[in-house]
Amino acid sequence: MTLLPPEIERVLVPAEQIAALVSRLAAQVNADYAGGELVVVGALTGAAMVTADLVRQLAMPVQMDFVSVSSYGDQTVSALTLPVAGHNVLLVEDIVDTGETLARLQAALLAQEPRSLRTLALLDKPARRKVDVSVDYLGLDIPDEFVVGYGLDYAQRFRNLPFVGVLRRSVYA
Ligand code: 5GP
Repeated sequence: MTLLPPEIERVLVPAEQIAALVSRLAAQVNADYAGGELVVVGALTGAAMVTADLVRQLAMPVQMDFVSVSSYGDQTVSALTLPVAGHNVLLVEDIVDTGETLARLQAALLAQEPRSLRTLALLDKPARRKVDVSVDYLGLDIPDEFVVGYGLDYAQRFRNLPFVGVLRRSVYA
């Protein structure tokens, strides 16, 4: 059992529910790409956990890579290690908020001319959307609260929590 750090107000998505969401998403991906192959691209650092848990439930031949978007300045997208031109690419995100990060990542990947590009996001905060982005595989809509855990951080902390929890406002207000 994991103790609740004092900075966490409450558990929003328990570890068991996350596991069930990832399994449901993996089953959808397996059905859609049956007989094909996939390059899974995780968005660092937040999507490291969901990417790792997802790929272990995928049945088709899979290659893995990671990208990061600098959160300051011009939001540059890092280069991929793998060539994705002509491949089916699945972009994996932790959470979609305004949609700006996802739009940037999708544009950067499309510029490399993959055969196809789809996006998976574990969590979505639709109330905060500014950019109209398409998400093909969505885990769970959540309310407009700042959450941490299962890869998501506050000031680089709390990524290792096995659940997703709401951070107390007093921590960042
Ligand atoms: P967007 O560009 O959609 O506004 O934001 C997406 C990124 O912001 C996510 O990949 C994540 O890194 C960060 N983010 C958005 N909402 C939250 C949240 O509630 N908690 C944490 N830890 N990060 C978030």
